[in-house]
Amino acid sequence: MTNCKICGNHMGMYFQYAGRVIDVDCERFGIYCRRCAMVDTEKLQSKRFVEYYKDNAIYMKEGNYYPYWECPYHFKNIEDVRARIDDSHAAIVDMENLKFVNSLK
Ligand SMILES: [Zn+2]
Repeated sequence: MTNCKICGNHMGMYFQYAGRVIDVDCERFGIYCRRCAMVDTEKLQSKRFVEYYKDNAIYMKEGNYYPYWECPYHFKNIEDVRARIDDSHAAIVDMENLKFVNSLK
């Protein structure tokens, strides 16, 4: 029996009522019940939120800027994030991601 550490509700025998909280930089926090995970994620998002730029929410964590939530890369300043969003229609291949994808094959 595993219960949510926040509200104490049972998360189901196979964690079917569980949710994960994942930070903007993909750092994983604990597993909670789905409701608490959602509330916690929203709290984190409003804490890290910087601004909306062309309908994209920009987040900041520890001085690094992220163009979206659960983003594997970051920028050192907000101008670079905006430039990235401006350029998002261009096909940008992230070499680190590509290596990772290839390593799964
Ligand atoms: Zn809970």
